[in-house]
Formats: sequence, C-alpha cells, structure tokens
Amino acid sequence: MSTITLALSKGRIFEESLPLLRAAGIEVTEDPETSRKLILPTTRPEVRVVLVRASDVPTYVQHGGADLGVAGLDVLLEHGSQGLYQPLDLRIARCRMSVAVRADFDYASAVTQGSRIRVASKYVTMARDHFANKGVHVDLIKLYGSMELAPLTGLADAIVDLVSTGSTLRANHLQEVEKIMDISSRLIVNQAALKLKREPIRRLIEAFEAAIPRTATGA
Ligand code: ATP
Ligand code: MG
Repeated sequence: MSTITLALSKGRIFEESLPLLRAAGIEVTEDPETSRKLILPTTRPEVRVVLVRASDVPTYVQHGGADLGVAGLDVLLEHGSQGLYQPLDLRIARCRMSVAVRADFDYASAVTQGSRIRVASKYVTMARDHFANKGVHVDLIKLYGSMELAPLTGLADAIVDLVSTGSTLRANHLQEVEKIMDISSRLIVNQAALKLKREPIRRLIEAFEAAIPRTATGA
C-alpha cells in the first residue's frame, strides 16, 4: 500500500481540516499544539500528516515532500501554483484580502488624484496586481508581520492584509476601504502523486468534497 502524505499548517488550517479528514475516515492521533512531532500519524496506517509553515505548504507539495496539502488562496497566489493540481475549494479558513488605511487618511482622494501611495504588505504580489489593475501608482514595502503598525507609524499610507472580523483593524484605528478578494483554503495535489497514487488520492478528494462546509450565505 502506498503512503499518502498530507501537508498542513498548525492553527486554523489544521483545526478546520480535522472535520474533512474525519469525513475521509482519518483521525490524527496526536495534537500538534502539545506534541513536538512534525510528522503526525493517523488512524489510517498509510496516511500521515506533516506540519509545515502555511507559506511552505505549496513548496512541499510541488516538490513531492507531500502528496497533498491545504493552502490558503493568499499563499497560492503569492507563492505561485505552477505544477499543482487544485481540485477543491475547501471553504475553510475563510477571510478576505483587503486594503486598510488610517481612519484619517482620505483613500478615495489619494487614488483618484493619481498621487503615489505607499503600501505595506506581506502580500506584495497581490498588492502590486491589485493597484496595477486600478492604475494606481504605489510604492510597495514588504513586511513579514504586524502590518497594522505600518500606517500608525507613518511607514505606509495603506496596508494590504487578510481581514476576517475586522476587530484587529478597529483596535488599531484602521479602516477597511476596499476588498480585493475573498480567500479560503484549497486542496492542492502533487501532479506525479496524482498519477502514481491515483485511486487513494481520488477517494480522499471525493471524501473531502462531500464534507466541505456549506454556509447559510451560500457565498
Ligand atoms: P504564521 O501565523 O505562522 O506566520 P500564517 O499567518 O500564514 O503563518 P495562519 O495564521 O495559520 O498562518 O493562516 C493560514 C491561512 O489561513 C492563511 O494563509 C489564510 O488563508 C487564512 N487566514 C489567515 N488569517 C485568517 C483569519 N483571520 N481568518 C480566517 N482565515 C485566515
Ligand atoms: Mg497568521
């Protein structure tokens, strides 16, 4: 029997993937929050979970370090998804990519007047594409965390970041001024594994698909 390796990241992707795994008859038998293991066994001897950084999931799957993985659309767009088969939108870890500014910054005027705005983000590719499509000139500043701080310190006029409830923005007196796109996590599959382990992977995809959360909004 061939081994199936699934790459997940700790935190919300791991937590929200559990019901999907369960639907496929897979229980992870160790808790990543308390275990130091990076390779977790499951109740199915041929299936194992590897824990990697969210932004490393596509890399693992592309190069065959894992057969499948769960990655946010943000990560896939920023990283690129060459060579990855993306059969399912799992509709988990849902949020949106948005532009936010300080409450006292007149974003509408800034973008219509054609002035250059300084945009800080971890997602510089998505930010660059978004503003290029709008014809807005931007200076991009790459950050790795705490983007909310950038407008507050004068480092940038705007940030491009993930928003779910908006409470972090509000706590920092920032305003969401534009939604760039809705984000959710996708199942990604290594192309070679898809051929070599066709049947077990097809069964997993089917089980995940049947368990995808449907919400009242239908969004
Ligand atoms: P790290 O926190 O280790 O720096 P990360 O921020 O990429 O890495 P997570 O915070 O676990 O990792 O986010 C994983 C994915 O979950 C993101 O790529 C995104 O698709 C989604 N996500 C991020 N923030 C939220 C949120 N507030 N609500 C819902 N989904 C989110
Ligand atoms: Mg995070």
